Amino acid sequence: MSVQTMSLSGRKKEVSNKKMTFWESLYLVAIVKGLFITIGHLFTRKVTVKYPEEVRTRAGIWRGQHMLKRDEQGRENCTACGLCALSCPAEAITMTAAERKPDEKHLYREEKYASVYEINMLRCIFCGLCEEACPKDAIYLTESKVLVPASYDREDFIFGKDKLVMPLEMAMANAKNRQN
Ligand code: SF4
Ligand code: SF4
Repeated sequence: MSVQTMSLSGRKKEVSNKKMTFWESLYLVAIVKGLFITIGHLFTRKVTVKYPEEVRTRAGIWRGQHMLKRDEQGRENCTACGLCALSCPAEAITMTAAERKPDEKHLYREEKYASVYEINMLRCIFCGLCEEACPKDAIYLTESKVLVPASYDREDFIFGKDKLVMPLEMAMANAKNRQN
């Protein structure tokens, strides 16, 4: 078989420049054929859903919105080591490290913490590698089904600590559940 006639998909068709017959030039047969294809699609299983009224069931391995964890005393776990940012294939994470002050021991678990921690949701591919890399069990991808809201403003996609840090009430509730 020559390279010109080779077809990997088996659907390759040779283009012919032969003159059309009278019936072909009316395009009636082609239009009827096309209509049958369209009608056929009415009876096949639909692959689309009416989002947002209908939401697809997620796979068991679904990874949702990130969360920066607090410990059982409500202190932030993150020590701004930067390993999550280093392991991120999309270079979506940036942070600024700061030294914990003596009167901030109730806020941050480690001596160093992230004063700024940002994830660019336009870059993130929700791979979960940041979670894998974290030595402090500080970041994880939740099972939240809430998607990143659409916006015309790029700034809205930069999620800072206000959106990422676990709410204090949640940390306290988790600690209570662990005790029971
Ligand atoms: S989930 Fe993946 S892409 Fe997103 S911030 Fe973490 S490592 Fe980067
Ligand atoms: S989330 Fe984990 S890996 Fe990332 S800076 Fe904080 S402690 Fe380090």
